[in-house]
Amino acid sequence: MLEYIKKDNLTEKMKYSVIYSDKKIEYILTRKNIKRLYLKVNSKSQVVVSAPYNISREKIELFIVSKAQFIQNAQEIIKNASYAIDYSDGAKIHIRGRQYLLSVCLGSENNVLLKDDVIILQVKNEDEALRKKVFDQWLALYSLEVFEDYVYTACSRLNIDKEEYPKVKVCAMTSLWGSYNTAKHTVTLNLRLIEAPEECIEYVALHEVCHIIYPDHGKNFHALMDKLLPHNKSIRKKLKESVILN
Ligand SMILES: [Zn+2]
Repeated sequence: MLEYIKKDNLTEKMKYSVIYSDKKIEYILTRKNIKRLYLKVNSKSQVVVSAPYNISREKIELFIVSKAQFIQNAQEIIKNASYAIDYSDGAKIHIRGRQYLLSVCLGSENNVLLKDDVIILQVKNEDEALRKKVFDQWLALYSLEVFEDYVYTACSRLNIDKEEYPKVKVCAMTSLWGSYNTAKHTVTLNLRLIEAPEECIEYVALHEVCHIIYPDHGKNFHALMDKLLPHNKSIRKKLKESVILN
């Protein structure tokens, strides 16, 4: 019991940094009574790590380095995040094909939480620009995580080595769902794709990853898509119907 109290007193935030390929990654470490490591990039672009008490700094830093690409992407996205929706209380927002109600409330911290069919947007004041900033940054980071999962799953289906996985970016685009840049080995996905049903996100991710193998939309490309996702044409139709790009 005494030990527990002691540990609990140590639940303070410490700032550290780790060097990875000539870059310094600064992070805020919080020790908690949890089972595994968690890492996130907050809206101030800070890397925040929560770790169990018994895990060494060395292991924590290995974990951070393994997430270096994600951290870099996330920090870039935070710089450029912008999304145009209604941020008023009770607004309807679509994420991964599901409809959520936006619930705006005041609180001591800016925060976004997905809960059942509600998105709770907690902000420090009534300022509309703040709502937009907090929500946009959260959505961009959330989308990046979802898109990375789909892109990496598609890569593994195509037997692409882990070291060869492309960089994934999220971008607000008006006419494209996604693109693959060969020179930069980067898959860019439209932020609005996060509104679409899961199978549509899977379809676009797979389509762009197939471009790593076949750059154009030739016969081979379509044969590969048909093999990996037999109903891809109907999914494409569903995507066009579920999210209208403008
Ligand atoms: Zn294409």
